[in-house]
Amino acid sequence: MNRRIKILMIAFMISFMVMMPVQEIMADKSNEELVIVIDPGHGGSQKGADYNGIMEKDINIIVAKSMAEELSKYDGVKVVLTHESAEDEMSIKERAEFAKKVKADYFFCIHFNASGNHNFYGAETWVTSYGRYYSEMYAFSEILLKEFEKIGVYDRGIKTKLETDGTDYYGVLRRGAEFDIPAVIIEHCHMDHEEDTKFLDEEKLIQFGQMDAVAVAKFLQLKSSETGADYSDYEVTFPEEPQIPIPNDETPPECHLTLVSMNDGEEKAVFRIDASDEEYPILYYGYSLDGGETFTTLSRWNRNESFMEFELPYGDCTVENIIAVVYNAYNMDAKSETVSLNEIKEHLLKLEEEERAAKEALAEAETYVVQRQTGGEIYLVIAVLCLLGIVIAILGLILDIKKAKM
Ligand SMILES: [Zn+2]
Repeated sequence: MNRRIKILMIAFMISFMVMMPVQEIMADKSNEELVIVIDPGHGGSQKGADYNGIMEKDINIIVAKSMAEELSKYDGVKVVLTHESAEDEMSIKERAEFAKKVKADYFFCIHFNASGNHNFYGAETWVTSYGRYYSEMYAFSEILLKEFEKIGVYDRGIKTKLETDGTDYYGVLRRGAEFDIPAVIIEHCHMDHEEDTKFLDEEKLIQFGQMDAVAVAKFLQLKSSETGADYSDYEVTFPEEPQIPIPNDETPPECHLTLVSMNDGEEKAVFRIDASDEEYPILYYGYSLDGGETFTTLSRWNRNESFMEFELPYGDCTVENIIAVVYNAYNMDAKSETVSLNEIKEHLLKLEEEERAAKEALAEAETYVVQRQTGGEIYLVIAVLCLLGIVIAILGLILDIKKAKM
């Protein structure tokens, strides 16, 4: 055999040997389905949050089914629901064991929220405090909360919570990590706040499920031959895996209130709240006009700012004192010092006085002008009369001269 053919044959054999496993891996990879388990929260006797005639277990099912339908359109995924009816009763342990049994790669728990004082709104996710499960589900959550923001759902952040013994507070997250399945609890929005109740009709619930699916597709860089959607190049940012479990937030935020200015043109006083928190961002602010008994509906805090301003019409500044409140993403609040509104009252009294003085001065000036005007008119009459007298005198003089000549 000539040398060139020998080399060609060896090269061919080597490339064949190298190609084989690659093809095998690729074939394996494309056949390998990602198993995604969707768990509609509660069910049966566990109603979940129950507000204004809506039970959480009922809407969780709608969202979960919509998510499953949308996610099934993507290639290479197998989507499984832990249960299909709101009447199915399942313990947390059973749900996690179900995920383990079907060899879930990811575990998504569908929930809605409500707060004790009905004062919060927005969406949040809960993830485990541990390692790669934290890192992965944090990355997913960031994508998801951005999707929700597109329709106006407020982003309440990504959170962890530990028991005193250092294990995850939420059973599904704890057992997920135990079974080596990254899990996340999605709290879509609050059922008991008017800022969010507009997202609870069937159309919006279905949209929630679709957004959940799109977030999963982006996170797992899926594509769909059915719809043409392709997220294979989607950039996912993973935070570093924590070396020690992420602890609970134990420090409340700081909050200070000051009166900045009084805008007489618009008859408003401008106040400024300065707030900060070391662990979780500030989410909401409000204020009280009755010494802290009741507070205004909470407003959204701009997370890029260390302070927020608000205005009060002078008419609302009738009480003595005002107190501001802020909440961090861990629902911890801080109230400001009491700011006295006396300064505004004194300012308003001064304004009133100035106005009265100005009015008086104006009235005086008007009288003066009237006097001046009447005085002027008299002078004019006198002047005209004088002029007439002079003319008559001159005429008389001329007549007298003429008479004398005759
Ligand atoms: Zn729930």
